[in-house]
Amino acid sequence: MTVSLWQRMDSSRGVTQAGTEADIVIVGGGLCGLGAALACEEAGVDWQLLEQTRIGWGASGRNAGFLIRGAAENFARACRDMGRDSAKSLWKLTEANIARLESYGLTELSSFERRPSVVLAYTEEEAKELRDSARMLREDGFDVDVPSSGTDSLWRKYPPLAALANPGDAVVNPIELVSMLAERARAGTRAGNRTGARVGTGDGGAGTGAGVGKERIHEGVEVHAIDPVTDSSDARVEVRARDRILRARKVLVCTNAWGPLLLDELRDRVSPRRGQMLALRADGESLDAAYYSNFGSEYFRPGPDGLLVFGGRRLADEAGEVGYEDKTTPVVQEAIEEFARRIVGPSFEVVARWAGTMGFSPTGLPMTVEVRPNVWFCGGFTGHGMSMAVETAHQAVSSMLGSGAGH
Ligand SMILES: Cc1cc2nc3c(=O)[nH]c(=O)nc-3n(C[C@H](O)[C@H](O)[C@H](O)COP(=O)(O)OP(=O)(O)OC[C@H]3O[C@@H](n4cnc5c(N)ncnc54)[C@H](O)[C@@H]3O)c2cc1C
Repeated sequence: MTVSLWQRMDSSRGVTQAGTEADIVIVGGGLCGLGAALACEEAGVDWQLLEQTRIGWGASGRNAGFLIRGAAENFARACRDMGRDSAKSLWKLTEANIARLESYGLTELSSFERRPSVVLAYTEEEAKELRDSARMLREDGFDVDVPSSGTDSLWRKYPPLAALANPGDAVVNPIELVSMLAERARAGTRAGNRTGARVGTGDGGAGTGAGVGKERIHEGVEVHAIDPVTDSSDARVEVRARDRILRARKVLVCTNAWGPLLLDELRDRVSPRRGQMLALRADGESLDAAYYSNFGSEYFRPGPDGLLVFGGRRLADEAGEVGYEDKTTPVVQEAIEEFARRIVGPSFEVVARWAGTMGFSPTGLPMTVEVRPNVWFCGGFTGHGMSMAVETAHQAVSSMLGSGAGH
C-alpha cells in the first residue's frame, strides 16, 4: 500500500524509542526473512522481523513445495549461460539449503517426503542437454540418476525422451516448513534464552526491543520507508511502518518481488512475475516424483490426500504474468490443465487454483546487496526460493556482520 505525504508527516502515528532496538531489523516474513532471523539468532545478534500480512503469506506459502538441487534449467545449460564454476556453486548452494533445513527438523515435518526431482526432456535439444548434464554433474562429484522408465501416470501416458533425477531432493508442504522455521526463530536457538517469545499480531509494540520473552516477529506491520538516522544515537537506520518506527544498526529487506516498492534502487534488479498452480483429483492416476519439464515450464508432483499438483505455463501469457496482482487467469489455468491432461487424461476435478508472486533477477541468480548505507536486500530467487532462500539469507547475514552489524 502507498503512504501519502500527510500520513508520513503525522508523527502521532509513529512511536520512536531512543537508542537501538535491534542490531538488525528484517523486513518480510517468508523463507528468506525467517532464514535471516535464524542466522541472526545463531550469530547472537538481536533482531526484529516485520511482516506486512502473515508469515508465509507471500510466495513462501504458495509455491509447489519442491526442494530441488539446482534450478529448473539443466546443469549443462546453466554452465553454458553462467559458467561452470558459477553453476556448480549454485548447485552446491541448493544442496546446502536442504541440508540446513534438515538440521532445523525438515525431515520431521508430517508433509516431508524424500522424492527425487526429475527433469524431463520432450525435445532432442533438451534430451541432449540432460545427457550432457548427467555426465558433467558426475564429473563435478554430484550424485545423479538417469531414469528411463517408471510405472506412474507420467511414464505410462507421456514418457519423455530423456530424464535426469536428483536423488536427494524432497517435497514438503511449504506452510508447514515456514511455520516450523518461525517457531524455531521465535523460540530462539541460543542456549537458555527467548523462552516464551511469541509472534505478535497488531501488538502496537514499537520499542518492544529484543530480549527474553519479547515478541520479535511482528505480523500485520507493513514497512513503508527506511531512512537514515541523523541524530547521535548508535542506530543508523529507521524503519517506518503505519504504527511504529524501529531503529536498528542495519536492515535486511527480504520482501521478494515487493523489494522495488520499498527500495527504488531495486527497480532494475528485481521484477515481479506471477506463478500459477492448481491441485486436481484424478482417480487411478499417480505421480512418484516431483517433475519438471520443458526447461521448467511445467512442474508437477504428488500432493496431500491423493491430490496431484500442477503449475507453470507462465509463458502462455508472458507479458500478462508480469506484476503484483494476486489472481489466477483463464489463459494460464487452461494451459496448465491442457498439460495436466497429457499426464492424467481428460477426467479430473480441479480442487484449488492459486497464484503467487516471484521476484526475478536479471541473471536468474539470487542476490545479496547493500542497496544504501546499512540497508541490505536479499532475494531475486527467480522461482527457486524454496531451494535457495534460507541458505542465501544466512550468507546475507554473514556479509552484514562482516561489515559491522551488531558489533
Ligand atoms: C506458484 C509458485 C511456485 C513456486 N514453486 C517453487 C518450488 O517448488 N520450489 C522453489 O524452490 N521455489 C518455488 N517458488 C519460489 C519460492 O516460493 C520463492 O522464491 C520463495 O518463497 C521466496 O521467499 P521470500 O522469503 O524471498 O519471499 P516471500 O515468501 O514472498 O516473502 C516476502 C514477504 O515480504 C512481505 N512484505 C512485502 N513487502 C513488505 C513490506 N513493505 N513490509 C513488510 N513486509 C513486506 C510479504 O508479505 C511476504 O510475506 C515458487 C513460487 C511460486 C509463486
